[in-house]
Amino acid sequence: MEPVITRFPPSPTGFLHIGGARTALFNWLFARHLGGQFILRIEDTDIERSTEASVKAILDAMEWLGLTWDEGPYYQTKRLDIYAEYAEKLIGTGHAYWCECTPEDLENRRKAAMAQGRKPKYEGTCRNLGLGPGPNRVLRFRTPESGETILKDLIKGPIFFDNSELDDLVLVRSDGIPTYNFAVVIDDITMNVTHIIRGDDHVNNTPRQMQIYLALGAKMPEFGHVPMIHGEDRAPLSKRHGATSVMEYKELGFLPEALVNYLVRLGWSHGDQEIFSRDELIKEFTLEHVGKSPSIFNMEKLLWLNAHYIKEKRPGELVAHLKPFLAARGFPEKDDSYIAGAIRTLQPRSRTLVEMADAMRFFMVDEVTFDEAAVQKFLTPEMRDVFERVIPELENLGDFNEANLEAVFKKVTGELNMKLGKIAQPIRVALTGVTVSPGLFEIIDVLGKETVIKRMRRAMGRMG
Ligand code: GLU
Repeated sequence: MEPVITRFPPSPTGFLHIGGARTALFNWLFARHLGGQFILRIEDTDIERSTEASVKAILDAMEWLGLTWDEGPYYQTKRLDIYAEYAEKLIGTGHAYWCECTPEDLENRRKAAMAQGRKPKYEGTCRNLGLGPGPNRVLRFRTPESGETILKDLIKGPIFFDNSELDDLVLVRSDGIPTYNFAVVIDDITMNVTHIIRGDDHVNNTPRQMQIYLALGAKMPEFGHVPMIHGEDRAPLSKRHGATSVMEYKELGFLPEALVNYLVRLGWSHGDQEIFSRDELIKEFTLEHVGKSPSIFNMEKLLWLNAHYIKEKRPGELVAHLKPFLAARGFPEKDDSYIAGAIRTLQPRSRTLVEMADAMRFFMVDEVTFDEAAVQKFLTPEMRDVFERVIPELENLGDFNEANLEAVFKKVTGELNMKLGKIAQPIRVALTGVTVSPGLFEIIDVLGKETVIKRMRRAMGRMG
């Protein structure tokens, strides 16, 4: 079997969209599953709308998702001579011709067709004029006027197109820049792409592209068109449904593993399994189990997966992911092992890194901010006596382990005829400023003796 080659060819006119990322992922997995190659190509022939910043944003997002490419990035604007060479071939074999119809002519004819209830279509005005190149002329493809093109789609099954419905599409614009439909075919031919997996918004381009393959006598690749991603309201996913750019998800505190796992399940399934390691995905991914209908984007499920990956990761690994979020909150710097300790306490209760960084405030700041209601309720005058007795005991404690701490708390509450449970919340408020936090002993373990005592002393100042 010839080696499998897939590609992802984004247009750098914006950020990497969630839908684009899923397409990239499917191509990447398809290639990896079959031990093939994955090519990255930047389709920058729309010179006005393409930007360097978008290229960078797309590459960053691909890297963040771990979608490594084996070749590229290629840039179409650096390959113009290749397209020119193929254009000459098509002219030479009579499959392409020059057209001098002006945009105004075309527009008038389009209007006339509409007025007469005909489907607007290029009427072939210049088809047989034998024009040569010249200013304001475009190169058109001579599409067969009869017969049909059959797309044997790997996902959707066979789709039939009447050739008479296909226009004589423009291959090269009057400024010499190839159109998408032309450049993409030449790239895919010259890069030996074997499988083209892309969004089904391209289905109608495919018969046109297939005709170019036929005209060039090139080997036809396989095509698979993936249904779109929709929002909960079943409209194509767009800004108004929430974040659509991959890197926005990074900023919202998602882990790349979670997004990859989420994206793959948008359209693909493997029994009931929801959680996949990257190796499992590579092992299991095939196009047979890509669905035929649009997938619905569901934020709750993405959050659920993110919570799963946050729990699963080693705290030390999460440090690097979390640090930008801590810095953004202006927290003082702490060493990695301290941060990892704090992370461990918050892993079971954070759905995103944003939630985790917010919850981490009391670990990071020098002085906690007290929630006034918590102060009123728990830092009561009667607690003064408890703290006054507990603090010296803690100072004398060698090892701050759970057993030792519990012994101290038991001793003091016993002396004061108080239930052990009564002191947990006041100590929690003293250490965190609030009433909800990870387990008390876990917090104490991370904060360490000095900070615990300092915070308890400071809390005494608030006890009525
Ligand atoms: N640049 C096109 C896009 O972003 C590529 C389509 C294709 O895969 O052929 O939609």
